Amino acid sequence: PAAADRPAPPTSSAPGEPLVVLQGVDKHFGPLHVLKGIDLTVRKGEVVVVIGPSGSGKSTLCRAINRLETIDSGTITVDGVPLPAEGKALARLRADVGMVFQSFNLFAHKTVLQNVTLGPIKAKGVRRADAERTAMGLLERVGVADQAAKLPAQLSGGQQQRVAIARALAMRPKVMLFDEPTSALDPEMINEVLDVMVSLAQEGMTMIVVTHEMGFARRAAHRVVFMDGGQVVEEADPETFFTAPRTARAQDFLSKIL
Ligand code: ADP
Ligand code: MG
Repeated sequence: PAAADRPAPPTSSAPGEPLVVLQGVDKHFGPLHVLKGIDLTVRKGEVVVVIGPSGSGKSTLCRAINRLETIDSGTITVDGVPLPAEGKALARLRADVGMVFQSFNLFAHKTVLQNVTLGPIKAKGVRRADAERTAMGLLERVGVADQAAKLPAQLSGGQQQRVAIARALAMRPKVMLFDEPTSALDPEMINEVLDVMVSLAQEGMTMIVVTHEMGFARRAAHRVVFMDGGQVVEEADPETFFTAPRTARAQDFLSKIL
């Protein structure tokens, strides 16, 4: 695809600058303390893989960064801007933070092309012709341009997830969050999604990826963050984390999934 169809690299932060910063983030669900004083800095262009047992707070962390969940205390900033509570500022934040879920969450009654153009047209006021041109470029890039006129249900899971990635990219986000993007896929479709994610990473997209796919972590991650019980227990580069985890909790977790 033409360079013009790609999300523009963020201009407001120099390479390596902190882009997503969490400080002392706490979150409760009733009596349940789900995030316990999370400190995490993700720099521009960095790919961070978040891993940890079920229930450790990984999804809540992603949802907090995208403001799909409120937090009880602490701060979260995206490109220097504290998470706004509501209104136009929140819409702008959502546009800056792309999110891809385990269950593809496409609009079932819209075509693939409409799924990708809707956000830019409605939230950013992009003209339909321009939105469609950009969308076709993105669908090309994730390898599903030939499916543009179909409804999501007519696509395979792997194709739907790639559409979901294109839809998120259409908003030109500064950071992309992926919450177990391949967990709902049949095994033969996992790589077609991971390959798209690896190429995004290689192009310099800032990414936070919740996944247990070691192959992806090894190929693309700068850093692995291991969560357990609502805390960041260990952080390391992938090679170090997978071959020589420091903590007993990480060793125990890895012995179960590897
Ligand atoms: P993970 O993604 O690591 O599996 P989650 O962030 O989904 O973990 O969940 C962390 C904990 O918070 C779990 O105990 C889960 O049951 C609980 N939880 C998540 N969402 C809610 C909610 N909306 N209401 C109550 N409890 C929740
Ligand atoms: Mg989860």
